Amino acid sequence: MENWREFDREHIWHPYTSMVDPLPVFPVVSAEGVRLTLADGRELIDGMASWWSAIHGYRCPELVAALCHQARTLSHVMFGGITHRPATALAARLVELTPPPLEKVFFSDSGSVAVEVAIKMALQYWQAKGRPARHRLLTIRSGYHGDTFGAMAVCDPVTGMHGLFSGILPKHYFADAPRCGFRDPWDDGDMESFERLLSDHADEIAAVILEPICQGAGGMRFYHPEYLRRVRRLCDAQGVLLILDEIATGFGRTGKLFACEHAGISPDILCLGKALTGGMMTLAATLTTAEVAAGICSKAPGVFMHGPTFMGNPLACAVAAASIDKLLASDWQGRIHHLEKRLDAGLSPLSALSAVKEVRVLGAIGVVEMHQPVDMARIQRQFVDRGVWIRPFGRLVYTMPPYIISDADLETLTRVMGEVVAIQ
Ligand SMILES: *Cc1c(COP(=O)(O)O)cnc(C)c1O
Repeated sequence: MENWREFDREHIWHPYTSMVDPLPVFPVVSAEGVRLTLADGRELIDGMASWWSAIHGYRCPELVAALCHQARTLSHVMFGGITHRPATALAARLVELTPPPLEKVFFSDSGSVAVEVAIKMALQYWQAKGRPARHRLLTIRSGYHGDTFGAMAVCDPVTGMHGLFSGILPKHYFADAPRCGFRDPWDDGDMESFERLLSDHADEIAAVILEPICQGAGGMRFYHPEYLRRVRRLCDAQGVLLILDEIATGFGRTGKLFACEHAGISPDILCLGKALTGGMMTLAATLTTAEVAAGICSKAPGVFMHGPTFMGNPLACAVAAASIDKLLASDWQGRIHHLEKRLDAGLSPLSALSAVKEVRVLGAIGVVEMHQPVDMARIQRQFVDRGVWIRPFGRLVYTMPPYIISDADLETLTRVMGEVVAIQ
């Protein structure tokens, strides 16, 4: 097609865009390592890892090999009544890597669906236990859990992008977001709102759902591990399930393989996605305990009521297993620690700029929070003109690069972030 870019503009929705007056999109023709190549030949250093997912960079040889090998053997088959090695091999890895007692794995095709599945598990569990009144969720503000209806209902009502639908979404409980940052001194007062909501409404609450340690698209905030420990303790005291959404944080991003390890706790239900396949395929998983699984299946209909068409897709499972093996074979912890130091050195000086409210770094995540929202179209162009791919939203200019990024490229990335932030 000659005019594919005009065709795109006329006919294709992009995430959160207008079909009438779309902002420009940049045509990418290939990607390798940490570089995206545009149609005009320009190369951009990727600071986004395609929304947390491409942890090994692009065209990673091990992932390409796993994909090609699997495509020649079994690319897809329905999962109803059938199983295959790629799914079992991946599930075995997930059971081993995630904190005990998570041991039952449900595969789905995107993070939002993994969250829907987690919510449905919690609701079905309480129905089977003869407590159908336990059908609401408790979460914290500034969270983001996806764009489908169940997930939207637990996104922050203001920053979570779904305020428009608030009238028709199920009503859940929202505690204040934790105020204590990851490295701040702990303050007991931080628990007040959560503790009160949980004790006032325990009879109605099926589960607590939150992103552990790092809140992503709802505000890019890092909170204190003690908050998470207290949440676990309070859930146990009330017999409420705990769902942790590690779709963004899983697979090393915060410096631990899973962010809940910062607090030494484990959930009853865990959602994984994004970096699960190293960004090559779409795949997600929801893990739960033997206890929750047994509860769900103890009463009629005796089965868990979900089953996507592309459940356990062999291509995605094979790539995910290869991605996990590559990660574990590397000194990923040393790598993330190194990236954290470099991001901190590169970004911390920006806190002196008048337009900047705060700079925060955790693991391989660097966030520059501005006082004012940025002009998306303008700032995007400023980054591209300087050879860097960063996609800010609202007041947040942030990066979570592929783990393989070189010191020189990371230096360029943070320098350009500084230059661009300074001219807003
Ligand atoms: C991205 C994300 C989701 C949704 O995943 P999709 O694959 O976009 O549906 C859910 N929860 C968190 C924490 C995320 O970062």
